[in-house]
Amino acid sequence: MKEELAKLADEGVAQAAAAGDEASLQDVRVRYLGKKGALTRIMKGMGRLSAEERPQVGALANEVKTRLEETFAARLEFLREQAVAQKIAGEKIDVTLPGRCGWQGSRHPITLVTEEVVSIFSSLGFAVAEGPEIEEDFYNFEALNIPKDHPARDMQDTFYIADEVVLRTHTSPVQIRTMLAQEPPVRVVAPGTVYRRDSDLTHSPMFHQVEGFLVDRRVTFGDLKGILTAFIEQFFGKGFGVRFRPSFFPFTEPSAEVDIECVICHGKGCRVCSQTGWLEILGSGMIDPEVFRSVHYDVETFSGFAFGMGLERLAMLKYGVNDLRLFFENDIRFLSQF
Ligand SMILES: [Zn+2]
Repeated sequence: MKEELAKLADEGVAQAAAAGDEASLQDVRVRYLGKKGALTRIMKGMGRLSAEERPQVGALANEVKTRLEETFAARLEFLREQAVAQKIAGEKIDVTLPGRCGWQGSRHPITLVTEEVVSIFSSLGFAVAEGPEIEEDFYNFEALNIPKDHPARDMQDTFYIADEVVLRTHTSPVQIRTMLAQEPPVRVVAPGTVYRRDSDLTHSPMFHQVEGFLVDRRVTFGDLKGILTAFIEQFFGKGFGVRFRPSFFPFTEPSAEVDIECVICHGKGCRVCSQTGWLEILGSGMIDPEVFRSVHYDVETFSGFAFGMGLERLAMLKYGVNDLRLFFENDIRFLSQF
C-alpha cells in the first residue's frame, strides 16, 4: 500500500507537469484528490491494515496529499502567470507606429471675419439684422432705386428663380426690410450670403457680404467717414492710410469707394495691389432719397449712410490668402490653420 501511494504521488506530479492549461490541471486534480479520486480510493482500503501499519500509512497518505496539493497549486500559479504573459505579448504596443489623433474642428475663416466685423460694429452701436437669401425683385432691386430698365441691373448677373424672385445679389435688401419695419433712428449691420452668375479665379457664384447702414436726423458724410475709418482701424490695425474715392451706386448719392493702404506692401506697390499701393475694400455713400421714399421715410427729416463689403476679400487681406477658391473647397489642411 505504501508503494501504491508512492507511485500515485509520482504519477500525479508528472501529470500536473504535463497539464498545459488550467482546465486540464483541474481534471488531474479531480482524478487524484477528488472525492472519487485515486487517493480516496486507496484510503478506503486502510480498514484492512493492521493496527501498527495504519498510522504509518495514514501519515504517508497525508504527506502524499500535501505534496500533490502543493504541486497542483504551484502548477496553477505557473499556468496563470504564463497566460497573463501570453496576453500581454499579444497586446504589445508598437510605440514606433505613427499616432492616430482625432480631427479637431475649427471655425471657417469667413465665419471668423464675419464675427469680427459684427463685433466691431456692435461696439459702435449697430444691431444685427438678417434677411432671406431668396428675395423678391422689389427688395433686391426696385426699392433700392434700380427699376426694371435701369442699366445698373446689367452690373449684376442675377440668378432668377421666377419672374419676380431672385437669389439676392447683395445684402442691401435687408436695408429695405429693416427700414420698412422700423422708424429711424436705425443702426444695423446685416451679414449674409449672396449670389451672382460669376465664376473665375477672383469670383465665386456664392459669396458673403456685410451691409451696414445708419439713418437718423442730420447724418452727414462726415459721420460715414468717421464710422468707416474707426472700423478699418479696428479691423486692420492703426497706421494704414484710408482714402475715399468718388463712385456710383444707384442706392447712394453721393457714393464713395473706400481704399486702404496696401496691407502687404504698405503703399510701396506689389502684386496684390497691382502696384498701386491701395486696396479697394468697400463701397459706401449717403442713402439716396429715392430709397427713403420707397420705405416711406421723410426725406426732409432724415438722412443716412450705407456701406457694403465682401467678407472673402476682407479675409484674404487679413490672413494673406491668395486664392478665393480655398474658402469653398473645405480642405481641412487649409481650414485647420485658422
Ligand atoms: Zn501692395
